[in-house]
Amino acid sequence: MEFRFEVLKIDPTGARLGRLTTPHGVVDTPAFMPVGTAGTVKGLTQQALGELGVQILLGNTYHLYLRPGHERIRALGGLHKFMSWPGAILTDSGGFQVFSMAELRKISDDGVVFRSHLDGSEHLLTPEKSIEIQQALGSDIAMVFDECIEYPADRERAASAMKRTTGWARRSRDYARARNASGRTNVESSTNPGQSQFGIVQGGMHDDLRRESARQLVDLDFPGYAVGGLAVGEPHGLSCEMAAIAAEELPKDRPRYVMGVGLPEQLPDYVRCGVDMMDCVLPTRNARNGCLFTSAGRVNIRNAKYADDSGPLDERCSCMVCRTYSRAYLRHLFQANEILASILNSHHNVAFFLDTMGKIRQAIALGVLAEFSSEFQARIGAGEP
Ligand SMILES: [Zn+2]
Repeated sequence: MEFRFEVLKIDPTGARLGRLTTPHGVVDTPAFMPVGTAGTVKGLTQQALGELGVQILLGNTYHLYLRPGHERIRALGGLHKFMSWPGAILTDSGGFQVFSMAELRKISDDGVVFRSHLDGSEHLLTPEKSIEIQQALGSDIAMVFDECIEYPADRERAASAMKRTTGWARRSRDYARARNASGRTNVESSTNPGQSQFGIVQGGMHDDLRRESARQLVDLDFPGYAVGGLAVGEPHGLSCEMAAIAAEELPKDRPRYVMGVGLPEQLPDYVRCGVDMMDCVLPTRNARNGCLFTSAGRVNIRNAKYADDSGPLDERCSCMVCRTYSRAYLRHLFQANEILASILNSHHNVAFFLDTMGKIRQAIALGVLAEFSSEFQARIGAGEP
């Protein structure tokens, strides 16, 4: 299957209903991608992901490069085979983790020298190296290597990171197109010859820089585009504004992906900016802390009031957890520090995010996303601390 993106319908709000075709299946958009950092969505088996209807998940280049190593995964046939996941996979470039987790040694136009957060070993990540790793992993969508900056960042800093990101995007693209000694392009010799690359719009919280970044990447002609550097501590309104500005500059016939967002009540806002794909660690990370997302707002399952509550976690959720277990049992598992607490909590939270995106797609199809959003956001905006 070849990479293809079709926009099926545009809602009056600007939201798009679409279909992304990848070498590992079709993805209905707007799509939420659960994060599978180290070749696993924490707490969920691949079988459970399939049953939940996950069509695409995200893998982390930085983590898989350090452990178990991309050459090992290449030798084992690529990430799909290694983790026994038949659906689509998107890998990030490693940029975000290098800038947020590793100890940075040196950043230059060439790339980034960093120390591993695992054992302190020193590594050099360049745009070419990032793509080489992602080709060994064989993801369906590879992200170009980008420079991620902190928030807030002044204009000069944002501009220089944005320019460097464009240069790195060009090198990432050219590396994939380059021919090796046997006359094949590097992509053809990867574990997934159908791999596509997305460029990443940067520019901090400066709208003119965001526009310039998007235009420069469009000139490089990627099959899809991401908006990076958001959800880094800025107000949600500003984040949406930056996503909308980038979307305006991006081609209408290519998928748009906002990286690292968001809370369930924020998802409709990004979709209304014309965004087609999102990913976030919140459903699984919060699940492990006992914070559960429900159709009536957030539930802190540690709360003593659930100790004798025989009702389901979320009456409006049809997931396996809500069909089978009570709030009292989920609270007990959490209090007793049982492994099953993380498993069941993660299952429900991922189900809730996927279900929310499914309802968003349905609302776009019916042309009622604005009405859906206000009802949904009023209902779930509340929650327990
Ligand atoms: Zn549920």
